Amino acid sequence: MNITRIEVIPVRLPLKAVLTLPRGASRTLDEGKRVALVKVTDADGHVGWGEAGPSRRWSAETLESCVTSIREYLAPALIGHDVFDIAGAHAKMNTELASGLDPGQPIAKGAIDVALHDLVCKRLGIPLQAWLGAKRLDGVRLARLVSASSPEEAARITREGLAEGFQGFKVKVGHHKAIDVELVRAVREAAPQATVWPDANQGYTLEEALRMARALEALGITLFEQPVPMSDFYGMRKLLSATTVTIALDEAAMGIPLAIELLRRDAVESLAIKVSKVGGIYYARQMCDLALNAGLKLIGSGLMDAPIGFAASVHLFAAYGIADPVDLNGPQFIAEDYLAKPFPIERQVARVPAAPGLGIDIDEAKLRRYAL
Ligand SMILES: [Mg+2]
Repeated sequence: MNITRIEVIPVRLPLKAVLTLPRGASRTLDEGKRVALVKVTDADGHVGWGEAGPSRRWSAETLESCVTSIREYLAPALIGHDVFDIAGAHAKMNTELASGLDPGQPIAKGAIDVALHDLVCKRLGIPLQAWLGAKRLDGVRLARLVSASSPEEAARITREGLAEGFQGFKVKVGHHKAIDVELVRAVREAAPQATVWPDANQGYTLEEALRMARALEALGITLFEQPVPMSDFYGMRKLLSATTVTIALDEAAMGIPLAIELLRRDAVESLAIKVSKVGGIYYARQMCDLALNAGLKLIGSGLMDAPIGFAASVHLFAAYGIADPVDLNGPQFIAEDYLAKPFPIERQVARVPAAPGLGIDIDEAKLRRYAL
């Protein structure tokens, strides 16, 4: 069954709060969460939805680049393509926009990939989790993101999170380096039973990362996400041997070729999986399979995803049995969205939708209200 139409709808969703990364605010309140929705229609009129929601201080893609890449290059190459041939769709997309160590504009390609998965699963009448071949979990536990500028603020956010049912807390560090240890300590002390880990988003030098790892050992923290720059393979390997804390790589593992290279260099023991950063479900499941077969720890993550990206991630993480709390923080930051009814989240456990495809209903009238 062939693709007949691919539409791109850029929208701006209002935010409740700003998230700060080592390079500065991920986006301002004014910018909002800007997402390019992708609607793929096949010859029978079946529809699938995907979305590109880039974070410009996290990777090089922007809303504008995603919109033009999809409209001008990716969509035209896929008209007439068989919806069931997702591997072939990626081959065509990678011919139009070259892939390298990473998939080449993965967030734009990932939007089409998720829309194709949604469409195919709807045609088959199965949820995406079933397409992925495993029902290891019925729900995914969400972590609260702690982005604070003082230990007092970090402790307050943590206490509020506990009251809302969160059992995991990811602490953004690398922006206020002098107080980073105190930020993590404040969260640990406010939530002694919870899963707590810092993410430095490449913000440390190797020396700073080694010092932080020692401090984390003393605090009983066992996981540390992306301490050093993604290009510092030496630093990543050095850290693994110097600390008992598990080092999780996120920005460093933007695609399968990079993950393989990290494995060859003994520079990886845990990978953060994001559906968008690797180009969608097709590559994300390969990354999960590679990691599990290599004995790596998988952690789940996202890019402040709106509901389509959120739903795709929940299906994937549940299929791969990621039982630790995952950093899917869209619901914490995005104030309004385009769903007909809210995504099922109970006490911070996101339930895997049972309806076909992603299992969510897009309210197109509502969607148009946020259109840019
Ligand atoms: Mg990260």
